[in-house]
Amino acid sequence: MKVLGLTGGIGSGKTTVANMFRELGVPVYIADDEAKKLMNSDPEVREQITSLFGEAAYNNGMLNRKLLASRVFSDKELLEKLNAIVHPAVGKHFEEWKKIQTGVYVIYEAAILFEKGGYRKCDKNLMITAPLEVKIARIMARDGSTRKEIQARMNNQWPDEKKAKMADFILSNIDLAETRREVRKIHQMMLNGA
Ligand code: ATP
Repeated sequence: MKVLGLTGGIGSGKTTVANMFRELGVPVYIADDEAKKLMNSDPEVREQITSLFGEAAYNNGMLNRKLLASRVFSDKELLEKLNAIVHPAVGKHFEEWKKIQTGVYVIYEAAILFEKGGYRKCDKNLMITAPLEVKIARIMARDGSTRKEIQARMNNQWPDEKKAKMADFILSNIDLAETRREVRKIHQMMLNGA
């Protein structure tokens, strides 16, 4: 079974596009969501996180996301250690998930697909783009974030130009009807063995 990697900067429309593929019957794995779930549900991950952050990492059995976020915010090394726990667990979980899917291909969605090397497990990669101001306006409307907060999050991601060089497909998501047409085209190419 083939894997189509799906990525794009914040506000580009990854989730929107992933849902369009889902409507076409393609199984979709959202790596960020699964990572959050595994941090709560995988005993091995829980144990490793507890030994890294202490018992306070979990509150009534649930991950104390605030504590972790504040600890890794100013400590790059600690963030890398956390990633070294979570990323392999997600990779393993994805492989298990993939085994029980049916169809020609599945989608692996990750915001930092290229940055963190997840693209290597994908046969093809699709990058979603939108103009910077459009992305900012979408996130402001969706989350109520400030321009400054959005810019800070964007600074953690590679610029589109760099990612575009590594992508097999680039989809400009501005008009939803046009995006849907493009999704159908890419779907057809994947079905045809792209
Ligand atoms: P993030 O990385 O922040 O999770 P994302 O790339 O997954 O973002 P979405 O959540 O799909 O992006 O889209 C961001 C917001 O913009 C959502 O509220 C979505 O409904 C809206 N949106 C996405 N695409 C379009 C479009 N083509 N036209 C209008 N609104 C759109």
